[in-house]
Amino acid sequence: MKKWIFGIVVLILLVYGLNVIQQPGETEGKAAKPPANAPNQQQPEADFTSLTIDREDIYRGDLLLINLQYPVSEQTEVPDVVNLFEHQELVKGFGILDQDIKLPMEMLEWFTDMMESAMADGVNHFLINSGYRDNEEQALLYEQLGSVYAKPPGYSEHNLGLSLDLGSSLGLMKDAPEGKWLQENAWKHGFVLRYPENKTEVTGVIYEPWHFRYVGLPHSAIMQERGMVLEEYLTYLKVQKRVQTVVDGKAYEVSYYPVRSAAKLSVPIKGNYSLSGNNMDGVILTTWDTGSPSDREAGSR
Ligand SMILES: [Zn+2]
Repeated sequence: MKKWIFGIVVLILLVYGLNVIQQPGETEGKAAKPPANAPNQQQPEADFTSLTIDREDIYRGDLLLINLQYPVSEQTEVPDVVNLFEHQELVKGFGILDQDIKLPMEMLEWFTDMMESAMADGVNHFLINSGYRDNEEQALLYEQLGSVYAKPPGYSEHNLGLSLDLGSSLGLMKDAPEGKWLQENAWKHGFVLRYPENKTEVTGVIYEPWHFRYVGLPHSAIMQERGMVLEEYLTYLKVQKRVQTVVDGKAYEVSYYPVRSAAKLSVPIKGNYSLSGNNMDGVILTTWDTGSPSDREAGSR
């Protein structure tokens, strides 16, 4: 072997040998300082790369907890939204209540995907009553409805763009086929019933059979299986630090990391991961295996 090739091989081995593979819950106080060998035992280190995160990451992503204790942070970016009344071509398989229904494009895609599945089951009388609301609209609603039925600006999930109020043209959501279908199937599409009847003491919000929140897979599946609302799920992740699950034949790993300052996370080099803050004190890293054929449909099942 030529000397220079040997040199490069040694260099590569050195770099990977020193690469940091951090374990969940280890980011505190280790800002940008790789701890000594902490190899991940599941996959070769070369499959991972280092991702720098900082406090801003606490306030981004699909798992942000928004309630009266944790309002939408100023650091959370307001999403680009599309007005569905002005874009009727995007309204497929459901109705909209009025001219003000707005949703982020991504959210509309997730919702439309779910509607296709409902339609295949013969459930097709859905109506979007509310989507994204800016602070002005939220303030008006709060004034009109009061604190039992609305929240102050910044304290509603609707201000985040990841929630929908859904109705049925056949009747009340708690009784209509649309409401029942969602309670059974929404989780398969990354959505959860945010304020269930038996969790009012945890959420602090009355039973809202119409309010659905996007959290994405596999989170919606774990929450459904364990009967947890978002408050409980985020606490569960914090306690467990790492949770593994299989949804639709696909293996996921969900890890919680507290974030006090800039830190490095080890993430799959192929990009098969997602990151979300919890809007409180840390981030949740979700990774999935790339071996399954449905991998390309991540988040859409
Ligand atoms: Zn709502």
